[in-house]
Amino acid sequence: MPETFERGSRFSRPAVRSILGVGIATLDIVNEVEVYPAEDAEMRASAQRRVRGGNVANSLGVLAQFGHHCRWLGTLADDDTGRWIREDLARQGIDAAHAVVHAGGATPTSYIALSRASGSRTIVHYRDLPELDADGFDRVPLEGLDWIHFEGRNPLETRRMIDRVRRIAPGLSVSLELEKPRDGIETLLEGPDVILAGRVFAEARGFEVPESFLSDLMSHTSAQLCVLAWGAAGAFFLVRGAEVEHVPAVPPPRVLDTLAAGDTFNAAVIDALARSLTPRESVERAVGLAGFKCGRIGLEGLI
Ligand code: ADP
Repeated sequence: MPETFERGSRFSRPAVRSILGVGIATLDIVNEVEVYPAEDAEMRASAQRRVRGGNVANSLGVLAQFGHHCRWLGTLADDDTGRWIREDLARQGIDAAHAVVHAGGATPTSYIALSRASGSRTIVHYRDLPELDADGFDRVPLEGLDWIHFEGRNPLETRRMIDRVRRIAPGLSVSLELEKPRDGIETLLEGPDVILAGRVFAEARGFEVPESFLSDLMSHTSAQLCVLAWGAAGAFFLVRGAEVEHVPAVPPPRVLDTLAAGDTFNAAVIDALARSLTPRESVERAVGLAGFKCGRIGLEGLI
């Protein structure tokens, strides 16, 4: 088992891309606990950290480590947390100049119990902030971008965003994350080139078998590649016209922190595809990096 993530020669290829991520950024308050508490229990945390979270923002943080030029678009409240998130994005070299700031409300916060026994993360999320709408997206110029990655949320507005991309920048690569089921989410399946789905989404759609989910998803999307992360079992992927393939997980010596393993996985798939690696190579790289991440606390210094 690798102690460190193997940096293959392909990663050193000069392939810096300009990537826009559209989704949420949050404050994550992570309480490390020895074991996950029983309901109604009181427990002392062994450690606590405040980190910037949010699926797309996390993926951009990893993509920035790969050396890409990253921009984030989403909403923030006009509060201390919102300002702190901006500073943290800037520290990671992520441009948040087009973020939409709302007066009132509260920047989204996730309260996370991270079990040292299993590495599992249990999340309670609070938000009181409008979602990004298509008008906010319209203000972002698309010139010079190579890739846009959307979080699958707020489907009505995100649909309009994808339509704009396809209308004015048809050559741009578009990926879509499907993490949770949401009303109307299937309206987003037309337009993306790559779909990055998660187990929770597949199971909520009634699929327990990855192959069946991916075949069904492929028949409803324009994407040429559908990828499905499956936790400790690794990941599955389907290229249009081919058979579903499985890539087993790469377990770290000890699972310490699975928080944002999926965001790391998504970033690594995008990085590899943007470097013109094959789908199999891309998913293998992603499984490797996500497994390496599970053996470490947090997302800093992965590359
Ligand atoms: P999420 O963070 O969205 O819950 P997953 O749990 O599906 O995402 O994990 C994403 C990827 O991280 C998986 O496809 C797998 O490659 C890797 N991974 C997750 N859990 C483990 C684990 N316990 N051991 C090794 N790799 C893991």
